Amino acid sequence: MKAIVKTRAEQGLELIDVPTPTVGPNQVLIKVSRTGICGTDVHIQKWDGWARKTVKTPRVIGHEFSGHIVELGELVTGLEVGQFVSGEGHYVCGRCRACLAGRREVCGNTLGIGYHVDGAMSEYFAMPAGNVWVHPGELDRDVAAIFDPLGNAVHTALQFPCLAEDVLVSGAGPIGIMAALVAQFQGARNVVLTDVSDQRLDLAHRIGISQTVNVGREALRDVYGRLGLVEGFDVGLEMSGAPAALTTMIDHMVHGGRIALLGTPVANVEIDLAKVIFNMLTLQGVTGRRIFETWYQASALVSSGLDVSGVITHRFHYSEFEEAFAVAGDGKSGKVIMNWED
Ligand code: ZN
Repeated sequence: MKAIVKTRAEQGLELIDVPTPTVGPNQVLIKVSRTGICGTDVHIQKWDGWARKTVKTPRVIGHEFSGHIVELGELVTGLEVGQFVSGEGHYVCGRCRACLAGRREVCGNTLGIGYHVDGAMSEYFAMPAGNVWVHPGELDRDVAAIFDPLGNAVHTALQFPCLAEDVLVSGAGPIGIMAALVAQFQGARNVVLTDVSDQRLDLAHRIGISQTVNVGREALRDVYGRLGLVEGFDVGLEMSGAPAALTTMIDHMVHGGRIALLGTPVANVEIDLAKVIFNMLTLQGVTGRRIFETWYQASALVSSGLDVSGVITHRFHYSEFEEAFAVAGDGKSGKVIMNWED
């Protein structure tokens, strides 16, 4: 079968033939329909510091996917051939204190598909049955492929109640835009999305985020009058990883405000901890998704009318992966999807 593989410890990726995986007793074999390109995949392609530390070659990459079950391992129950699925790409240990308590999202021994173990950018993908999420059959195949990053957005945006609150979201990448959509869907009073890219803010605006601010040009304080804000924002969702975004957010929170952090900084960030203390702010780190509560929430939100399809801006056949990665890596696009069907 064809797979997109990090073959060597250097920049680049290759589309090569690899053996089709055989299915272990507790695994299912999935015929991949679509894969999404994550920022992580771009890091692996570019072979930056994180990738060098994390990925051993050769490695099939990719963790955002949708597809159909074509084979069941002999011990698998509760799943059927033909089901339309995605999967939780974090393989947890099952034995640590968190796992035993049912809090698998905070397992300290997690392995990630597409970087620690082989991933889903391939025609077929074998996954433990316990990591499979079954979609309703009518769900759009492209949208199903981005349930992993949608789950990141949902997990972050549901950390704190947004109903009737003023919410600041920093970072208009695909996950930031989806987090803003989820905050709006929850009935926030105002959702303000910031970035320094007009292209990304324009995309956000087109798909339903009414309040966007290019903080490279406009001061956040300038929107207060327009939105009737007095003391600042109640909830912050930091999705960019940019140090300035977090320090600005801390400056614009109400006393007692709550911030969820998903964007990953590439270096240490200096913050004014006295402000966090005296303003009684909460900073909550967020990673991954709750397994599987976040998947349930994302599925319920989509079936209730949350439309995230507009965040997908580019679609390619897998054979065009080099062009797809170039688009995904330029920092201007929304989500980039690759089609693995003929
Ligand atoms: Zn564990």
